Amino acid sequence: MKALVHTAPLTFELRDVPVPQPQDSEVLIRVQAVGICGSDVHGYTGNTWRRIPPIIMGHEASGVVERVGRSVTSVAPGERVTFDSTVYCNECPACRLGHVNLCQTRKIIGVSTPTSRAEGAMAEYVVVPSWIIHKLPAAVSFEEAAMIEPAGVGMHAARITPIDVHDVVIVVGAGQIGLLTMQGAKIKGAGTLVVMDVKEDRLAFAKKMGADVVINSAAGEPAEALQKAIGRPDADVVFEAVGLEATVAMSIRLTKLGGNLTLIGNVTPKIQVNLQEIISRELTIRGSAAIAGEYPACLNLIAQGRLQVKPLISRIVPLTEGQASFDALHHGEPGLMKILLRP
Ligand SMILES: [Zn+2]
Ligand SMILES: [Zn+2]
Repeated sequence: MKALVHTAPLTFELRDVPVPQPQDSEVLIRVQAVGICGSDVHGYTGNTWRRIPPIIMGHEASGVVERVGRSVTSVAPGERVTFDSTVYCNECPACRLGHVNLCQTRKIIGVSTPTSRAEGAMAEYVVVPSWIIHKLPAAVSFEEAAMIEPAGVGMHAARITPIDVHDVVIVVGAGQIGLLTMQGAKIKGAGTLVVMDVKEDRLAFAKKMGADVVINSAAGEPAEALQKAIGRPDADVVFEAVGLEATVAMSIRLTKLGGNLTLIGNVTPKIQVNLQEIISRELTIRGSAAIAGEYPACLNLIAQGRLQVKPLISRIVPLTEGQASFDALHHGEPGLMKILLRP
């Protein structure tokens, strides 16, 4: 089969590799669409230890079941499916409590680290364990289904965060995850949705996607702009979807007394925070990691038209354009959101 293999920093090769064989509890899927994740772009630079070459990336995908292992009864050949990006064990204490995103032996599809590896879906076929597979409702296309993983990440962040009816919610960072989190917050009942970013094109897009107020946080003091726009300088809930020291600091300042701040962005491993601000203003700060059970809800919300993922898809290209697509995302081509590859 044809596979887009990451062979060295900043480099891919379209190679002929053997079709992977499903073991007893695994499923072979013929890939129909696979998204390029921000973490893939980060990984292909070679600056992380999470895409050690050679590796086939791709953890946001959909396809058709081609063949199933001997003990698989939950899906059958011909069925349209997507799958969780996390391979969890279903047996460890975290899994048994339903925190499959925190599984002690988890692997991520399409990720290779010094201690684990699982080939991904930027290829004609991918093999995954049967228990991470979800069937697609008829109303959900393969392209939409390839967006379920990032949608699940946004929905998980919204789900674990206390949001009251009509709360003011700020999302810092108008990338895909930010905009999907914003939609998750709205589905949970948020009142006013504020999106902050430093790029005007992203803010305009956020507005199109349902933000009530957009603020360019580089254009002045964000709290003042917020005061002007909604009559208060802070929010009940803030989601940080960037992951830099400056944006985390800003998010802390914009969270109301006793409010909730959820951190999703994960770019800088270590940052300094103002401890006084957090303690004296009694903020609740939590991290949000991946997805834990949000797939069925997201699939149904997309089928019902309540969760919009299609507008986030910038282009759909064949595997042969994989290298060019990664390069375009790496160089920050303006207006570019999700690129889907179609093997
Ligand atoms: Zn991803
Ligand atoms: Zn586990």
